[in-house]
Amino acid sequence: MRESALVVSKTLGMLAPEIKPGVTTLQLDKMAEEFIREQGAVPGFLGLYDFPNSLCVSPNAQVVHGIPNDTPLKEGDIISIDCGAIKNGYYGDHAYTFEVGEVAPEVKKLLEVTKESLYVGIREFKAGNRVGDVGYAIQKFTEDHGYGVVRELVGHGIGRTMHEDPEMPNYGRRGRGKKFVEGMVVAIEPMINLGTKRIKQLPDGWTILTADNKPSAHFEHDVALVDGKPELLSTFKYIYESLKINLKEEDEFRAKVYD
Ligand code: MG
Ligand code: MG
Repeated sequence: MRESALVVSKTLGMLAPEIKPGVTTLQLDKMAEEFIREQGAVPGFLGLYDFPNSLCVSPNAQVVHGIPNDTPLKEGDIISIDCGAIKNGYYGDHAYTFEVGEVAPEVKKLLEVTKESLYVGIREFKAGNRVGDVGYAIQKFTEDHGYGVVRELVGHGIGRTMHEDPEMPNYGRRGRGKKFVEGMVVAIEPMINLGTKRIKQLPDGWTILTADNKPSAHFEHDVALVDGKPELLSTFKYIYESLKINLKEEDEFRAKVYD
C-alpha cells in the first residue's frame, strides 16, 4: 500500500508545476494517466463506478468528483485534484487543493486551515481511539474558523478496494464509532467549505458543489496504524519539492521509507 500511495503522491507532485492559468483539467488528466501507467500502476478512478477519467478535478465551488474538461484554469482559481491508483492489487487515494496564481486571502486561509485539519484528524488516528475521535477533531478545528463541514461525503478504509470500512466522517463525537486496530489503513479527507456545509450536485451525476457557490477545499492522505501510531503512506513532499515550498508538517507522521 506504501507503493500505491507513493504513485499517487508522485503524480500530484508531477502535476503541481503544471497547474497554472491556461491549462485545462483534461490536459492534467492525460498527464496523470500517462504518469501513473509509467510507474507500473493503473488509474484507480478510471471506470470506478463508471467515472470517465483518471483524476477528479474540482475548481472553486466544486467540492469533489468534478470531471476533467476543456475549460482553462484562470488566475485566482483554486483546484482540488483527487488521484487514485492501483499497484500490486492495492489502492492509493490522495488529494490536494492547489492555488492557480494568486488567490484571495480568505481562500488561501481556507486552504491552510483545511490542510491543517487533515493533520489534526490524523493525530487522532491512534491505538485506543475511535472513528468519532478523528471526525470530532476535524469538525471542531474547522468550525472554530467558521467553515462548513460537508456531511454527505466522508473518508474511508482503503486496501484491495478503494472504499472499505470504516467510513471516516469529518464530523462526529468523541469516543463513538469503530475502534481503530493495528495495521488498519484509512483515507482521511476533510472537505471543508468557506460558507455553508450544504452541497448540491450537477446534472452530470458526479460533480458535487457548495450550495452557496462559495469555495471548498479538499486534502487527503492514506494513513496506516503502525505500532499504535499514525504513519503517512502518502506524502505532499513531491508537491512541495515541485513548488519549492519548505514545510515540515509531515515530519511527525512520515514513514521511514521517505527519509
Ligand atoms: Mg480521493
Ligand atoms: Mg478517498
